[in-house]
Amino acid sequence: MGVMGTEERRSDEPEPIEGCATCEELAAKRAATPDPSKRTDFNVLIRRHPEHGPSS
Ligand SMILES: [Zn+2]
Repeated sequence: MGVMGTEERRSDEPEPIEGCATCEELAAKRAATPDPSKRTDFNVLIRRHPEHGPSS
């Protein structure tokens, strides 16, 4: 049971960028997906969505 951190599972799920249809669609699909590993895939896609990229 090597759980790192405390209870940060939920905060591991990124919010979709407001106004970005792609992110919102990904978030909707994520919400409809019960499989945690597939949810992780959507989380990665939302984080890496290139149209807004890393804000600096
Ligand atoms: Zn996006």
